[in-house]
Amino acid sequence: SRGSLTDPLVAAIDQGTSSTRFLVFNARTAEVVCQHQVEIKQSFPKEGWVEEDPLEILQSVFECVEHTCDKLNQLNIPTTHIKAIGVTNQRETTLVWNKETGEPLCNAIVWLDLRTQSTVERLINQTPSKSKNHLKSLTGLPISTYFSAVKLRWLLDHVEPVAQATHTHTALFGTVDSWLIWCLTGGRKGGIHCTDVSNASRTLLFNIHTLEWDPDLCSFFEIPMEMLPNVRSSSEIYGYMCLTGGRKGGIHCTDVSNASRTLLFNIHTLEWDPDLCSFFEIPMEMLPNVRSSSEIYGYMCSGPLAGVPISGCLGDQSAALVGQMCLQEGQAKNTYGTGCFLLKNTGTKPVMSEHGLLTTVAYKLGRDHPACYALEGSVAIAGAVVRWLRDNLGIIQTSAEIEKLASSVGSSHGCYFVPAFSGLYAPYWEPSARGIICGLTQFTNRSHLAFAALEAVCFQTREILDAMNQDSGVPLTCLRVDGGMTANSLLMQLQADILAIPVVRPSMSETTALGAAMAAGMADGVCVWKLNQEHSISMETYQPQILPKDGEFRYGRWKAAVQRAMNWET
Ligand code: ADP
Repeated sequence: SRGSLTDPLVAAIDQGTSSTRFLVFNARTAEVVCQHQVEIKQSFPKEGWVEEDPLEILQSVFECVEHTCDKLNQLNIPTTHIKAIGVTNQRETTLVWNKETGEPLCNAIVWLDLRTQSTVERLINQTPSKSKNHLKSLTGLPISTYFSAVKLRWLLDHVEPVAQATHTHTALFGTVDSWLIWCLTGGRKGGIHCTDVSNASRTLLFNIHTLEWDPDLCSFFEIPMEMLPNVRSSSEIYGYMCLTGGRKGGIHCTDVSNASRTLLFNIHTLEWDPDLCSFFEIPMEMLPNVRSSSEIYGYMCSGPLAGVPISGCLGDQSAALVGQMCLQEGQAKNTYGTGCFLLKNTGTKPVMSEHGLLTTVAYKLGRDHPACYALEGSVAIAGAVVRWLRDNLGIIQTSAEIEKLASSVGSSHGCYFVPAFSGLYAPYWEPSARGIICGLTQFTNRSHLAFAALEAVCFQTREILDAMNQDSGVPLTCLRVDGGMTANSLLMQLQADILAIPVVRPSMSETTALGAAMAAGMADGVCVWKLNQEHSISMETYQPQILPKDGEFRYGRWKAAVQRAMNWET
């Protein structure tokens, strides 16, 4: 049935690598009522470095919330119908901020950043087994540039303000979920410093069996536990969107230029002067705090949503798993965004991979609910290769244009493109791999290159699916997909061809945000979303259309190309 204007609503903040979205869902039908999206700038200050600005990330959330609320108003739906807000986020991306001023102490190091390569080598050498898998039984992860503890170690070693604030106990660490929840619940005035089990399980500091920060892991990385967020379930009330100014945590301050016009301000010490105050008989307690003219005084509180509980938190891949309703053991989905992530639900027991996959906490939908785990195959570069063709080569103007360009030739004509820009993740975990384009002839043109880029995404998924099937012994018979790239029908058909199984795409591509909204809506104390309710999401299926031997031939060529991309930097 279609939603009505009186149905309860649940919103989701989806803070991805390439953009931020805010979506409002009807909690009864799971339909998207309205949404807004803003692209996020990435900076590449050095080769292999990828950064984002934490304040821009925060600002993009405010912007999305404001625009979405405007759209709700235009639909004559009061924003008070929004009963809860969920957060889902790019995982592993690492931030450190000052808890007293609220200021970020560094740019966010984005998950696919490679600057920590030598830190990783040093850390591996410090393990008794000198193996990147030394921490795997505890964390489910290899020691790799990918995960937060390694990035945080690098920040402590190389960024003076981070080291200094950590030394004086004023630094807080968080992934993007923690940063946003802390800011949105009041920041330096009572903000809640927390994360959920799915995000915590991507740090290398989290014991995925006990579901707690591990003191031994923290001392291995030399990271003080006091800077870590509290770990909570993925579905519970963490805090409330802070109220607009006034009674609840409004910031009472002024800057030096204004203070100097009061006759109460000592312009030499830059402080309120007790003698001047007593001369004018003005109690000092009623004066604002004097701050500099350029610093963070506080955060805009999103007026219309003030007081709404934030009650869902899931890393983006976990959220997509929930949003695709892969809540039973054996169910899997693949999300095609900046990178590509195939997760298979393994139920309440962590399963360790023998084939280069990660073991991760998928979700814990309530304090008293068990944690569910997933096997995960992560590919660093998927949509990012399309963005690269757009921004670095300029052979397309928009990401969507790649479909037409690649379709015009219908084959790569023997060209293979391994986009190992950030090394290779699963199943290789080889940071020294670099990108390669091979099989070029006089005949090759930009259309073939576009086709090879799309095919690369499909081959990488095939490698992960093979590993997943080998680990579980039960081959997957169809693949559920989602993410920004799945708008590309050519990609979907190529994927079905190269996997030789059907690929199933929901008509609604925002499954990541949906998962976060579900977690928020079902939390204790909110309870507007029922897990087993009927959702009216239709599916589209792509069947394999080529001879299996043709697919195998191309896959074989791809693997040969991967071998050429390996160990390039060593
Ligand atoms: P993220 O969650 O990582 O920010 P999204 O799911 O929003 O990613 O997907 C965005 C990525 O998908 C971008 O890298 C973009 O280049 C790519 N993309 C978007 N539309 C298309 C398309 N039609 N064909 C191919 N790639 C696309």
